Amino acid sequence: MPFREHPTEEALVQCRLDHWLDSESWSHNVTEMIVQQRPLGEVMEALCRHCGRRASERQVAFYLLDGHEWAPAARGNLTAEGEEALAAVDPAALSDAVLAWNGLADDRLGYPFEGGWARHLMSGIGELLGLFVSLADGPFAPFGIHAARIHSVCRFAALAIEQKNLLDELVFKANHDALTGLFNRNYQERVLEWTLSQERNQAGRRAALLSVNLDRFRLVNDVLGHSIGDRLLAEVGRRLGSGLEGRAMLARPGGDEFTILLPHVESAAEAGEVADRLLGLLAEPFRVGGHQLFVTASIGIGCSGAGSTVTSLERAAYVALYHAKRGGKARWMHFDPSMAATPPERLEMEKQLHFALERKEMLLYYQPQVELATGVVAGAEVLMRWRPEGLGIVAPGAFIPIMEETGLIIEFGRWALGEACRQGMEWAARGGGPLRLAVNVSAIQFAHPSFLRDVEQALASTGFPPECLELELTESLFIGDLAGAARVFRALQSTGVAFALDDFGTGQSALAYLQRLPFQRLKIDQSFVRPIGDADRCPPLVENIVRMAESLGMAAIAEGVETERQATLLRLARCAEGQGYYYSPPLPADDFAAYRAGRTRAGQET
Ligand code: C2E
Ligand code: CA
Ligand code: CA
Repeated sequence: MPFREHPTEEALVQCRLDHWLDSESWSHNVTEMIVQQRPLGEVMEALCRHCGRRASERQVAFYLLDGHEWAPAARGNLTAEGEEALAAVDPAALSDAVLAWNGLADDRLGYPFEGGWARHLMSGIGELLGLFVSLADGPFAPFGIHAARIHSVCRFAALAIEQKNLLDELVFKANHDALTGLFNRNYQERVLEWTLSQERNQAGRRAALLSVNLDRFRLVNDVLGHSIGDRLLAEVGRRLGSGLEGRAMLARPGGDEFTILLPHVESAAEAGEVADRLLGLLAEPFRVGGHQLFVTASIGIGCSGAGSTVTSLERAAYVALYHAKRGGKARWMHFDPSMAATPPERLEMEKQLHFALERKEMLLYYQPQVELATGVVAGAEVLMRWRPEGLGIVAPGAFIPIMEETGLIIEFGRWALGEACRQGMEWAARGGGPLRLAVNVSAIQFAHPSFLRDVEQALASTGFPPECLELELTESLFIGDLAGAARVFRALQSTGVAFALDDFGTGQSALAYLQRLPFQRLKIDQSFVRPIGDADRCPPLVENIVRMAESLGMAAIAEGVETERQATLLRLARCAEGQGYYYSPPLPADDFAAYRAGRTRAGQET
């Protein structure tokens, strides 16, 4: 055992006294330094200096863990000999010594290693923070006043390190988002504030703030669970980061929102280019936990101008984002002052929607789906409307996204299913035969565990024939989890309902799933129908879609048929049905019944 003998009790008392007298002044100094949050290196240098008066006692150094290695953090006034000794210390030997230490040895004594002795710097809760290393004493721990002084020095050093670690952690936490490690709103706002203040002094400088929000992220959370959602967010953060250069600053203020500060852009168009690049980066599917996830995002851009503040710029980006979402998602938009009024409205709407069912403000409209060849009303699409008191009729574009984001769609969708079936039975009871009713189903609803039950319940409680109920689904359903979607499909199929693929051509359009999933009908999106004009036939694309539907055993229906010409050309392209203002806009239940009766009486001609 290379340690010296334990000092006698008497010697210890004497040395404590000496030490007390000695430490009075320097401990005060060091405490001051720690309280003033002086840099750790400085505190440690001071501690080294205080370590001893004799030159040999100053051959000391502190080591801190740097990654997995011990690195010298501060050193005393080393003599040339000491420097040499320090350079000769093998960090691996230190690590071995640390590992060998079993935590039971009296750490006042320290332990030897090749070239000196060391002792631990421990935190209040027993974590190893660093090492105090003495090079000149040989492999012998000090005793007497020297030992007591070193003990104090080590206590102070530990305190200083702990304080620094704690501060670092607090500062990091205060400025970063825990999930992604990106900056948080707080930090970015401070940088933005600073950027704007610089701008005021330099004419022609502009900053841009991009507010990025993932589309239908809620769905990922609801369907695949929060842990997958969290991992996806982290991945998205990494990918967005990879698309930024220079001084661009990426932050995650929370949820599925990311913000990017471009402190200096030449023009608004430059910010648009960045947005384009970011959207492009997200286009590649993500692989998370064995799932392949397709992610799109919407981006709102605000650019600073005279008088911009942090709040006004954030608001501009947010409002633009809101409009990008409303404009169909997966796109970016610049803020335009004419947009300004919307978000408060939206908040109010969200509040009012919560009571809409209870206040009986929801109703369903029915839009005829007409056989192109005969003009017969073959069915109706069921479309939700909201009539809040004193506000007239609100179209679904304004409230369905809110319902989807808030989850209200589950409850309202359930209501729509039940109400459509009830109405269908009421019409059937008045004669005219059962009518096919197509009810829109949000992806969130489809993925919800209660959906199958909701469908069964709607059918059972009304007696509506299942084969007359058609569920309109969109491609967004298949984000990644095709297998999961297929399972829900099979379960739903057993109830006897039919399926229509809505808005065909607007989404990912991965044709693979069309073969695997049992759609009876394919709804050609309005955007394909609109260009059908004066030529003497449908654009080849439309013809091809119809042919493809046929070959997969599906009937095609064209949405948004507005002119007679479109109806005629679609009929010539062998599209089975059409739906649109040319025939009729969506109608309240009674008007629809009248329309249908009229069509029948008119000999199915008009
Ligand atoms: P969608 O499923 O694509 O519904 C067709 C939309 O096109 C309807 O808008 C309809 O009014 C409109 N439309 C019909 N004919 C024409 C036409 O000739 N020209 C033009 N330009 N538009 C036409 P609406 O009723 O405003 O509904 C918008 C969307 O809201 C629907 O799009 C659907 O995605 C959603 N939605 C409506 N009701 C429900 C519902 O009960 N549940 C769910 N989840 N979504 C719904
Ligand atoms: Ca639809
Ligand atoms: Ca549609």
